[in-house]
Amino acid sequence: MSNATRIERIYDQVVRRNPGEAEFHQAVKEVIETLGPVLARHPEYAEHKIIERICEPERQIIFRVPWHDDRGEVHIHRGFRVQFNSVLGPYKGGLRFHSSVYLGIIKFLGFEQIFKNALTGMPIGGAKGGSDFDPKGRSDGEVMRFCQSFMTELHRHLGEFTDVPAGDIGVGAREVGYLFGQYKRMTNRYESGVLTGKSPHWGGSLVRREATGYGTVHFVDEMLKARGESIEGKTCVVSGSGNVAIYAIEKLQQLGGRVIACSDSNGVLHHERGIDLALVKRLKEVERRRIKDYALEHRDAQYIAGGSLWDIPCEIALPCATQNELDESAARKLAGNGCKAIAEGANMPTTPRGVRVFQQAGIAYGPGKAANAGGVATSALEMQQNASRDTWTFEHTEQRLQEIMQGIHHHCHEAAAEFGDPGNYVLGANVVGFRRVAEAMLALGVI
Ligand code: NDP
Repeated sequence: MSNATRIERIYDQVVRRNPGEAEFHQAVKEVIETLGPVLARHPEYAEHKIIERICEPERQIIFRVPWHDDRGEVHIHRGFRVQFNSVLGPYKGGLRFHSSVYLGIIKFLGFEQIFKNALTGMPIGGAKGGSDFDPKGRSDGEVMRFCQSFMTELHRHLGEFTDVPAGDIGVGAREVGYLFGQYKRMTNRYESGVLTGKSPHWGGSLVRREATGYGTVHFVDEMLKARGESIEGKTCVVSGSGNVAIYAIEKLQQLGGRVIACSDSNGVLHHERGIDLALVKRLKEVERRRIKDYALEHRDAQYIAGGSLWDIPCEIALPCATQNELDESAARKLAGNGCKAIAEGANMPTTPRGVRVFQQAGIAYGPGKAANAGGVATSALEMQQNASRDTWTFEHTEQRLQEIMQGIHHHCHEAAAEFGDPGNYVLGANVVGFRRVAEAMLALGVI
């Protein structure tokens, strides 16, 4: 059987065995369709059914999460943890709280996480979890009761050597705090290393909050440098206005980029003079308000309800909101407007057809599993600090983050060239991540 046929059959089987999970199918296809040349060099991977085994999670946990709102009404949500692959280390990957969450989203995120974590070169396996609960508009007390109920079940599946969750959409330091509090209460253990993304006041790492956004910008910087260019003076747009978007904007501005727009799920904020990041931080991080209120304080800024961020001409675009937010027509718009570089702060934000447009247009394109790996890498640095009962300075931790992102870029760039398609970071990231996992799976036997 040819490797192309083998890969097609594996994909068909994944679709058959996981019906209705469109995002998971998409994530699997995007990885395995690039692996033909790897199987050609390593027939032992096919012989040991490495791809088939990677596509099947080691364990999937689905549970009921009941809780009371402030009026005493009972709500029932569904909790998930998909422990995908632990061949390189304890399961590691965030928790997402958003109304759109179902098993297919958690599985796509968990699958991506395996390769992303392998790319960091750190000893962490891949997992993801979450719930269809949305903390937006809920009081602190409601969020706390939800987190306590969620952790009451999840705690038995976690541990610093077993599974170490972190944040994602809808889960920041507040939620991680409530989750850790309940874990500590259920287990009677102050096991700092069981969750990352903690507040630096009680065991969190400096730079973890900034890491995904900063890391994405370091990746874009490396892609531009490889082409003899830099961020300095370039016009940038960043989608979203959450954790990843805010710190991507901050690092772009530090490196001389001119960020003129960001967004949320309701619309686009366009400020041609440059985004006032201090105001965005106050609105989003302190007051938990929406970015449409930004235009109340800056009269020359526009909030376009329902608008598309990708219509705004730019040279650098960073999708930092959610999956499939950038489709083929948005990609054509960006390419037509002269965009030079895209790096994904979000997971799988560009549709497969959108990716093809970028590649055909010769735009530098950094896929999420490489470009946003700075978040999980810094989570691993948080685990190191917790294990050694140490705290590192901001400067030291940021330096480590930057070196890790440079290393990821370097390895992806080299692998793309090695496999005959220089500059193709999708190929490079998939090959490097897959090979590391495959080699460890071979070494550990059929488990
Ligand atoms: P946040 O919850 O902090 O922010 C999410 C942002 O994306 C918000 O501005 C939100 O707008 C927007 N958004 C969410 N859904 C949609 C949608 N359907 N359409 C348009 N905008 C939307 O999450 P993070 O910043 O942590 O995560 C953003 C992305 O980065 C996700 O894809 C996540 O998986 C990825 N990521 C995050 C990491 C981390 O360390 N946090 C690590 C690696 C990847 P609104 O407020 O209107 O919902």
